[in-house]
Amino acid sequence: MNGDNFPDRAMEYKNAKTSVGLPKITLGRITWVLNCHPSELESNNLDTELKRQPDMHDDNLPYDHQHLQLPRRPLVAIIGGGISGAGVAYHLALANRDRPPAITVFEPRAELGRGLAYDTNDPAHRINVPAARMSLLPEHPGDFLEWIELNDAIADDPAARRVDGAIFPRRALFGRYVASALRPLVETGAVRHRRAVVTDVERDGAFWRISDSQGGQTFADYLVIATSHPSPSPPSALMALAGHPKFVADSTVPRALDAIDPDDRLLVVGNGLTAADVVASLSITGHRGPVTSISRRGLRSRGHPAVAQDPFGAFETVPVESATQLLRLVRRTIREAEQAGFTWHAVLDQVRGHGHAIWRALPVSERRRIVRHLRPFWDVHRFRIAPQVEEVLDRAVANGRMEVLAASVASIRREAEDIRVVLRRRNGERLERVYDAMVVTTGPAHGGILNSQPWLARLRDLGHLQLDPTGLGIACNLSSEALAGDGRPDSTLLISGPLARGAFGELMGLPQITEHAVFVASELDKKVEKDLEHD
Ligand SMILES: Cc1cc2nc3c(=O)[nH]c(=O)nc-3n(C[C@H](O)[C@H](O)[C@H](O)COP(=O)(O)OP(=O)(O)OC[C@H]3O[C@@H](n4cnc5c(N)ncnc54)[C@H](O)[C@@H]3O)c2cc1C
Repeated sequence: MNGDNFPDRAMEYKNAKTSVGLPKITLGRITWVLNCHPSELESNNLDTELKRQPDMHDDNLPYDHQHLQLPRRPLVAIIGGGISGAGVAYHLALANRDRPPAITVFEPRAELGRGLAYDTNDPAHRINVPAARMSLLPEHPGDFLEWIELNDAIADDPAARRVDGAIFPRRALFGRYVASALRPLVETGAVRHRRAVVTDVERDGAFWRISDSQGGQTFADYLVIATSHPSPSPPSALMALAGHPKFVADSTVPRALDAIDPDDRLLVVGNGLTAADVVASLSITGHRGPVTSISRRGLRSRGHPAVAQDPFGAFETVPVESATQLLRLVRRTIREAEQAGFTWHAVLDQVRGHGHAIWRALPVSERRRIVRHLRPFWDVHRFRIAPQVEEVLDRAVANGRMEVLAASVASIRREAEDIRVVLRRRNGERLERVYDAMVVTTGPAHGGILNSQPWLARLRDLGHLQLDPTGLGIACNLSSEALAGDGRPDSTLLISGPLARGAFGELMGLPQITEHAVFVASELDKKVEKDLEHD
């Protein structure tokens, strides 16, 4: 698929509501369903909310095109207000308090900092890294933990605290923590939250011109792309079920599982953390039907160690030049760790911590081999499941209600409401099954990022962006500057968060994302400082 499949001008977005009345915006292959309760709809209606926002032509705003002739602060626009975009805005706003740039974050969600992962009210959705390691401030890893204690924030959620004292609260709470850090910056105008979807981005002389779903145009000297997770792209074979009321192609959409009844026979396609979220959410709402969860290798996300451990091993100092060498080194280090009384968790944590150095030392061909052959194993060990969720899954497997298979869908057919599936197991065996519901949990389609939204496709087609050769996101250099089609870095166009991981390696977990946000903010701060010196 290429950009030609998208409307030429990216203004063709749809603003509608879902069948359960949630506000919904569709642009290209991405649909935002804004997570507010129907009772809040009138007050939280997107249009109403957006109308309350100052227009870009408001004379009080430095963003006004008319003002560009005047001496002015540099303009930074950030597309995406999840943790990757909001983190950059936060650290940039606080980097140079005397002469901060004008910062606009485009984000349709009500609050900055939540993004896809932390904009959920589902009580089954928990952070999968202990709270002690989830912080907006990398230099102060305990910040979230202190915020929890200060606000007595898990008083209504005793299950959040585990026997060993580690805290795994609901993901919504982490979203609240980040949003509460951003709020004062938004209220004082240090960061402007433009609650709109970006529909087009164009070069206009020395500026980036950003058009949004409210008909606004914003000009920026620097543009940061932090849109991270495109919607999942279900395997085409499954699209035979499109229109089936119990076919859930994207389980991250709020209330996507509402149609599934307690006794439904359920097929979950994908076995990672999203699948775990689905099974945990359904168990809270009383689902008791049989569940089959499939993935090509049948690997399930692993849990946390019984006792917290410090990272173990040396991966920064030993130069590793190939995927095979890396695998050998990891295996050897695990053996050493076990002899020293640790588990593999401590080694994988060290690999993750040293991820950037390891990745930098590898040639692109070896990075590709890692993505192709080792990634499934890496993902299930590195993305660990929250203990509360693991308990639900273990229970379901132990009592025979859930089976985890290494299998793929060989064929699928709808017969009235029945979903008739032939599963092909890894050993070649074929299983014929009938299900009432199917949920796709194969995760965000990062390889298709440049086709996921029309403005990204257009930036690619005009030669401003290219896909990273590993397929993991958007190509950028080690200053996080996007690489144009001809391979040259663009000093005005930066990539923040998971979309930059082709260059930086491990950049998916919150600790690495916030470190990267600090880095991108400091790179921008240097650019802005230079601009001000030359003014
Ligand atoms: C379900 C899930 C759970 C996770 N849980 C954890 C965890 O517990 N611990 C951990 O360490 N990591 C976790 N992660 C990993 C990581 O912390 C998250 O991926 C995090 O959400 C990444 O934030 P982000 O800002 O990069 O991306 P996103 O959360 O995807 O945010 C991108 C934002 O961009 C906005 N956007 C997109 N396009 C446009 C546009 N055209 N105009 C304006 N805005 C736009 C979207 O609305 C979205 O809010 C989880 C990831 C997922 C997917």
